[in-house]
Amino acid sequence: MTQSNSETYYDVIIVGSGTCGATLAKELTKQNKKILILEKGATVPLKETLPGIAPLLNEIKVTNKLKDMRAITTGGTTAFYFAVAAEPPLETFSSLGIDLAPAYEETVNELPINYLPDDHFGPQSLKLRDSALDLGHTWEKQPMLVDLDKCNRGYSYEAKWKAKRFVEEALDNGAILKEKVEVTTIIFEGKKAVGVTYKEKKKSNIHKVFGEKIILAAGILASPKILQKSGINNIGSNGFYIDPNRVYFGLIPKLKSVDNFVGAMETKLEEDIFLGDANVPKLFYKLLMISTLKFRHFFSFSKSIGIGVKVHDPMSGSVSKEGDYRKTITDEVLAKLDRGGEEAIKILKNAGAKHIVKSPVNVTSTGGLLQINEHVDSDFQTEYKNLYVCDRSILPDTFRKPPTLTLVCMAKYLANRLCN
Ligand SMILES: Cc1cc2nc3c(=O)[nH]c(=O)nc-3n(C[C@H](O)[C@H](O)[C@H](O)COP(=O)(O)OP(=O)(O)OC[C@H]3O[C@@H](n4cnc5c(N)ncnc54)[C@H](O)[C@@H]3O)c2cc1C
Repeated sequence: MTQSNSETYYDVIIVGSGTCGATLAKELTKQNKKILILEKGATVPLKETLPGIAPLLNEIKVTNKLKDMRAITTGGTTAFYFAVAAEPPLETFSSLGIDLAPAYEETVNELPINYLPDDHFGPQSLKLRDSALDLGHTWEKQPMLVDLDKCNRGYSYEAKWKAKRFVEEALDNGAILKEKVEVTTIIFEGKKAVGVTYKEKKKSNIHKVFGEKIILAAGILASPKILQKSGINNIGSNGFYIDPNRVYFGLIPKLKSVDNFVGAMETKLEEDIFLGDANVPKLFYKLLMISTLKFRHFFSFSKSIGIGVKVHDPMSGSVSKEGDYRKTITDEVLAKLDRGGEEAIKILKNAGAKHIVKSPVNVTSTGGLLQINEHVDSDFQTEYKNLYVCDRSILPDTFRKPPTLTLVCMAKYLANRLCN
């Protein structure tokens, strides 16, 4: 057996310390498992400032022109997510042979999940809601992964739940974290995974580490690539989606906009077209306006009001042998974005907004690259024994809502399966 007597042999090697990796590490150390977390990023103090966020931001091309975004740091993308919490699709999982309900019940008791009271929204969000309701739309609040006690009746970055906290708990319970290392491939012995190879940052030497079980939790922009590079070649065989979006911003004099929880209210316009509150905190607003050269808007945050349009695109595209994602957005999908945009502009104008500008098309989220019961079984194990995938890559493609809450449940479910 490979290195089974060595001190550097682990019960479980977890690749990536984001939502899923952090939850797995926390749960498995509670069961006294010897855990190694391999993380590409570093542990940094999390702050919502330009010097705090910019170094973590990383983009990967998913079409010819569009890139999806992630955070490379201990705790993963929750470092700068919006903290919208959609309920997990329990029935979908059940139809796949997975009972996620016990994990969901546990998660609800553990994480702060709340609807924001009105006095926690900025005036721009309330104005947008009034206008949407006035035009006959439903404009519904979404639950948020936000601790209201930390909010002081308004936006607070610190109040958002972050996976980094679970990593800290795992480390307290004995997990070992190796940071600034990039896992490149899986090491197999026949049809069994026995370890991984990794590189240290800015060094080219390849290292190997061995463990009983390997869990890929490096996120959808990395785990499928690692599998592809390891010689598993049906990755992305059903295509993938990116759910394109666009945001519109206008200006209303004396609105007094403030930092705000974005995404906390939304409506469905028609099949596959959604409108939502896009009133981001000031830092993100400024980054958006400077990147699109909207200087008048850049200097007018206190008058700004924003709405987003998101559409579902069909599963299509592929992953190349090198692990590059390839997809084309069809005219039909772009036409849906335009239809949503027309309604978004009506809502902004009805609110009294002028000088309305729109962003380029962005990616809301890449998904659907791996399927449960095809690429992994109902224990999230691949065709290779002891090799598991547990991150956004395996989320069912019919569930296109904010995934964090579901990902925490999936990680708890897997940890439980591994311990029984
Ligand atoms: C701007 C933005 C806003 C969002 N808002 C919301 C929201 O409101 N609600 C919601 O539910 N979701 C939201 N999301 C999505 C959500 O944050 C992610 O889907 C979720 O964090 C994914 O979890 P994960 O465990 O799959 O991956 P991640 O959290 O991305 O974690 C992957 C980890 O693996 C590490 N890693 C990557 N490659 C390697 C490698 N080769 N070797 C070792 N480590 C590696 C990364 O550094 C990272 O720590 C948002 C995302 C973005 C970009």
